[in-house]
Amino acid sequence: MAKILFINGNLHGHFNPTIPLVSELTGRGEEVWYFCSHIFKDKVEAAGANIITAGDTLEEFYKNYRPTGNHPFYTLVEYIIKYDEVLIPEVLHKIAAMKFDYIIYDSILGAGYFLKNILKVPVICSNSSFVMNQLPVPDSMLVPGTHPQLDEFYHVLDEVCAKWQVAVPSVLDLFINKGDLNITYTSREFNPGGDSFDESYKFLGPSIAERKEEVSFPFDELKGQKVIYISLGTINTDFNRFYELCMDTLKESPFKVVMSVGKKCDISSLGKIPDNFIVKDYVPQLEILKQTDVFISHGGFNSVSEALYFEVPIIVLPMVNDQFMVAKRIAGLGAGIPLKMNEITPELLKTSIDKLLLESSYKEAARKISQSFHQGEGLEKAADYILNLR
Ligand code: UDP
Repeated sequence: MAKILFINGNLHGHFNPTIPLVSELTGRGEEVWYFCSHIFKDKVEAAGANIITAGDTLEEFYKNYRPTGNHPFYTLVEYIIKYDEVLIPEVLHKIAAMKFDYIIYDSILGAGYFLKNILKVPVICSNSSFVMNQLPVPDSMLVPGTHPQLDEFYHVLDEVCAKWQVAVPSVLDLFINKGDLNITYTSREFNPGGDSFDESYKFLGPSIAERKEEVSFPFDELKGQKVIYISLGTINTDFNRFYELCMDTLKESPFKVVMSVGKKCDISSLGKIPDNFIVKDYVPQLEILKQTDVFISHGGFNSVSEALYFEVPIIVLPMVNDQFMVAKRIAGLGAGIPLKMNEITPELLKTSIDKLLLESSYKEAARKISQSFHQGEGLEKAADYILNLR
């Protein structure tokens, strides 16, 4: 029996896709310990693993961390290194008395570069978005002195490397955190540049497993209806103006509209909910997508993968991080229409929905991507690859 340590953070989008893999490993009798935020305790235990909860310093970091600027790329690398700075001592402290055969770390929330050099066991990188083998910025943007946030990043990077006595990595190495094995929950066909990744990259297809959560939902109301599903995910969901625009635009339409507005939005502040709308703070997304005709999404990697898996074309409104790359890929493959949140109007929304419903090419493109997902290597093979690493 192997003893495996999984390391992740507090983000549903990074955590959820890993759970079916954990179940696959524990189902084979392997011993899995999962370091992550306490918010995932029930899900970790339901998957048959033991939880190691993040300590107070890390939970404080999750709540209170603020970047020193707002440049999209520098903000991301600044986050990665400052998060690693807090994560590494916590993980090492909590596992001090344990010995693991493998470590599986989240590509962003797992301090992969450092832990693989400190712990020296076979490592697997779990990628909850597209895998990349080049940075999304030119080399000229990595020159020290280019931007105060970049300098802050280099400063903390030097300190962390000195503290743990590891060589200072290139920004690319820190950013991609390549492991001995690299798993990702999509298909080679959907991942941009899919053919350029070496054999250590395994494309499993989306991690779609029946969820053990109980969320009540009036499914009867969707029967025989054309369904539009709107969700901006679980993190940046504060968009009352957008929700109101959707209600105004679609209240007289023949569609049944399901709108998940997230936990931060007070539903009563949205005014009268139109009769053809079902508005909730959280919905059983997989079940709804099975009955959806058009999905309006922020372009979160999981949401998009789930929708395409069920062959649903998408209107994408990317706002941060990988959402722009996801939106570009969807548009490039013809499976949906990207729109800008700050430029959206009722007319644009209406014509985009009509296009996706009337022009069969969008549905066809979604079906093609879905097929590539179904041909992914899957969880069983992923578990075999992991256990054969030793
Ligand atoms: N989700 C859900 N119900 C909701 C909203 C979201 O089940 O009402 C799930 C969705 O199925 C997906 C995840 O939450 O698995 C959101 O991840 P994604 O990467 O799309 O977006 P994020 O929340 O990370 O921005």
